[in-house]
Amino acid sequence: MCTTCGCGADEVRVTAVGTTDAATQPRGHDHGPGHAHPHPDTHPDTHGELPDSQDPTEPRTHTIDLEQRILAKNDQLAEETRHWLGDRGITAVNLMSSPGSGKTSLLERTIHDNGAGRPISVVEGDQETVFDATRIREAGAKAVQINTGAGCHLDATMVKSGLEKLDPGNGDLVFLENVGNLVCPAMFDLGEARKVVVISVTEGDDKPLKYPHMFAAADLVVVNKTDLLPYVDFDVDRCEKDARSLNPDVTWMPLSVQRGDGLDAWYEWLREL
Ligand code: MG
Repeated sequence: MCTTCGCGADEVRVTAVGTTDAATQPRGHDHGPGHAHPHPDTHPDTHGELPDSQDPTEPRTHTIDLEQRILAKNDQLAEETRHWLGDRGITAVNLMSSPGSGKTSLLERTIHDNGAGRPISVVEGDQETVFDATRIREAGAKAVQINTGAGCHLDATMVKSGLEKLDPGNGDLVFLENVGNLVCPAMFDLGEARKVVVISVTEGDDKPLKYPHMFAAADLVVVNKTDLLPYVDFDVDRCEKDARSLNPDVTWMPLSVQRGDGLDAWYEWLREL
């Protein structure tokens, strides 16, 4: 359980797209018999009631302790993954954004253009469906899909399972496409070498100040869909200034996956990893 938002990771599935795994996957979100939406209970048996220790008038000491233990366990496993990747010359990039900013489109284009100059493989994270792993596979790269169920982020345990199934080649560039969400993914180390945040100009230029943890943690901010700037109220300079107020050295990269503007800088950044 994520103690930040209470999301559960009890229903995680890892699917290697292009294998018999995928044939058993539902294409959508099936509300069949017995399907129940999980809720962010603090305990599975409390059905939304606060347990005794969670009296709202008391300090939330237990919650903080649990959160610290969950993150410490996650960080230890992420560090093991980092060593495992390093031993194989594999570089991992954690790709984070809101839903719909263009993460998967950016990867499709990068795979198509051989922009990284080396093989790419992808661990896809979404709550449901294998849509994105299928797109990556069709673009020509290896992909596995992690479905997090009620979970709103990838964590180190999921990524370890995903990498075992993905079996990336030595020297590959591995993208970890996180669940679309600008909050919790910032907290979880996955063993990556770099964290990339993608925002798009249709989302508004206020995101750095609204979601400061995400932007403070980023090595690179990609601003996608710049071809739409004439049609939206998005101040690129203001957005960059706000991001740099949180993270002065962050690399800032406006581009358009659709039109191809700025992709050279992205490919250069990838080749220098
Ligand atoms: Mg996607």
